Amino acid sequence: MQFSKWVAGLKERSISFFTKSSQQVKQTAKNMWDSLLKHKKIAIPVSTAALLTVSLAAFGNYYYQSNIYSIYHVIVNGKEVGVVNDPDVIHKWSDKKLAEETAKHIGLTLKLSDYITFTEEKLYKGKYDNDAAIQALDKIAEIKVEAVKLVVNGETIGYAANEEAAATVLEDVKEKFSGVPAPAKMKKQAVMAASLEAPANNNIKVKEVKFKENVQTETDEVPAAQVLSVDKLEELITKGTFKQVTHTVAEGDCITCIAKKYDITSKDIYANNPGITENTVLKLGQQINVTAIRPLVTVQVVEQVTKDEVIDYSTEIQSNDKVPKGEQKVLQEGKEGKKAVTYEVIKENGQVIDNKMLSQTVLANPVPKIVERGTKVIPSRGTGRLSWPAPGYVSSGFGTRWGRLHAGIDIAGPGSVKAADNGRVIEAGWHGDYGNCVIIDHGNGLQTLYAHMSSVKVKVGDVVAQGKVIGVKGATGDATGVHLHFEVRKNGTPQNPMKYLSR
Ligand SMILES: [Zn+2]
Repeated sequence: MQFSKWVAGLKERSISFFTKSSQQVKQTAKNMWDSLLKHKKIAIPVSTAALLTVSLAAFGNYYYQSNIYSIYHVIVNGKEVGVVNDPDVIHKWSDKKLAEETAKHIGLTLKLSDYITFTEEKLYKGKYDNDAAIQALDKIAEIKVEAVKLVVNGETIGYAANEEAAATVLEDVKEKFSGVPAPAKMKKQAVMAASLEAPANNNIKVKEVKFKENVQTETDEVPAAQVLSVDKLEELITKGTFKQVTHTVAEGDCITCIAKKYDITSKDIYANNPGITENTVLKLGQQINVTAIRPLVTVQVVEQVTKDEVIDYSTEIQSNDKVPKGEQKVLQEGKEGKKAVTYEVIKENGQVIDNKMLSQTVLANPVPKIVERGTKVIPSRGTGRLSWPAPGYVSSGFGTRWGRLHAGIDIAGPGSVKAADNGRVIEAGWHGDYGNCVIIDHGNGLQTLYAHMSSVKVKVGDVVAQGKVIGVKGATGDATGVHLHFEVRKNGTPQNPMKYLSR
């Protein structure tokens, strides 16, 4: 007997076919096997050689020898699955199997994941069954592909055909969520944009685009069916699912109730179902897409944004005691300044989550507004800002009433009546429909009128200070209840007193 162990390691070999024709595929496979056979290791122990010499010397040796031939035990992953008369039978089977699978999965790197070895045995009329061995192999053989596993925070998301596909997926997802073109595409755009004029206000600099999660790729061997296309992987990562979940509207359903049931938000429902808004009335039996779209990654973009901002001007008041109190004039108009402010903006999947100022540079200082305000008090001269002449609420406003102008306001209820501003009394006494009435001239173009008073406490020619009591509210003249009718006139024209009264 003679033993030799042939180790035909398929494990270390992967067959990359990619775009080769089927003829080339066969050729490649054949070359592989040729080179494999050259590297076969045959080890014949010395003791076995001695035994062989003894056998050779035996009688009837010729007949015996001519019926001795090699059979090969086929060992898969350490377990015998059959016996063949020639390892080539298995080689051909595996070539065919790989070629078939390759045709099905163009572009993938396929390999027989099982570790097949042969043990040769020389036997007198040794038994073998090639078909049975192949059938057994067909049952257990696993064709796997070398793929690139995408791992997010330790969880496997899916498999890409190769590193390039995985990189494309990750770059595309980054681009989709950040709006920032991937570096490879940026180069292309730069070439395209070269002929165009650069935008004048290009003040956003992208400092970083990264995944918030720990995203890794690892090579792995998986059944070919588990490998996803770039598009499918992108869909999976950006939506978190392929499976659309549909809800059929039942009695009593509402959008928020449905959202709650599926652990999504109303916004998700509006986004998934064009045409459904918060105003939609759901119909019984209506189909609603309630798929929860939760991206598996968070793309974080750090931008440096510089923009021009306005600097408000201040207002400086300069007092002038030569100018009567209540008068003012603008000595210098204010002008807004300008500054360039740089912010660091952090966005996650397009939403701003942080915005902090890094620096600012003043481009133009603001010019303050300078106002001169008179402080000289003249007792007979008004300040221009009127105080309320009486307590009570406004029961009737300024404006057209019953077809004629109500030239003042009515302040209801009893109480004393006070001068709304400094001035000189030019009317005091009975004044027709106004009843007991006082008119004060404030010396600045304004006059105020107080009507329907029950009594008058001043006389024509009196100089009154703002707040001085000039009478008591009443219902004299054309009045139907105790109230003060109060008018403001500017150069003789009735004004709405509310515009002059301080609140
Ligand atoms: Zn009135």
